[in-house]
Amino acid sequence: MPGKEADRRRVTLTFDNGPTPGVTDNVLDALAARRVSATFFVVGTQLRQRGGLALARRAAAEGHRIGHHTATHTVQLGAAGDPEEAVAAEITAIENDIDALAGTSETEGERLFRPNAAGGVLDTRVFSPEAVRYLQRHRYTCVLWNCLPRDWENVTGWVDRALADVARIDWSVVVLHDFDTGAMDRLPAFLDGLAGMDAEIVSEFPDSCVPIRRGRLQHSLSHLTNGGG
Ligand SMILES: [Zn+2]
Repeated sequence: MPGKEADRRRVTLTFDNGPTPGVTDNVLDALAARRVSATFFVVGTQLRQRGGLALARRAAAEGHRIGHHTATHTVQLGAAGDPEEAVAAEITAIENDIDALAGTSETEGERLFRPNAAGGVLDTRVFSPEAVRYLQRHRYTCVLWNCLPRDWENVTGWVDRALADVARIDWSVVVLHDFDTGAMDRLPAFLDGLAGMDAEIVSEFPDSCVPIRRGRLQHSLSHLTNGGG
């Protein structure tokens, strides 16, 4: 049927807050078994724990994208007392580590960054004007989402919730967590559900979820920025 391919719903899979030994390994196995690619938004403290770096390297070697998800995931850029210090501590501090894993630099490849939105809440604590300027100046692509099934709260029910979102949204950017909640035990069921919907799993991100693309501000971040920057 003409146009069928173009009409196929798209899904971009992202895994935040890892890598976590004992969890990310199984996530990678489940993705590999189905020849599916994803993006891992990694946290610096997770990378530095035993086995963390090896898992991130394995993910990159298996064709997944690696993105920056802050150094410690403890501070929100728009809620920090000293916003410049927060940028230095949470973004700059692990920039070289992420670049090495992702094969990126300020001039090569596409640097991916996802902010820490505590509890998934998108409000003015997510960014500071300083952070937005930094991400622009250092040519980041900032990746948000439109499907947050809250796997950390509902470790089994998230699958149905995510599949319902995917059925409703033309191009879903799904946020899951390769963290030790037990939720990722249900990842194979989710991936099989996606296959049953004939969803195309892609590695790119739709404009609607990308407020900054390679350093260029695509749409206003004032609703997510402390001080309205
Ligand atoms: Zn996170």
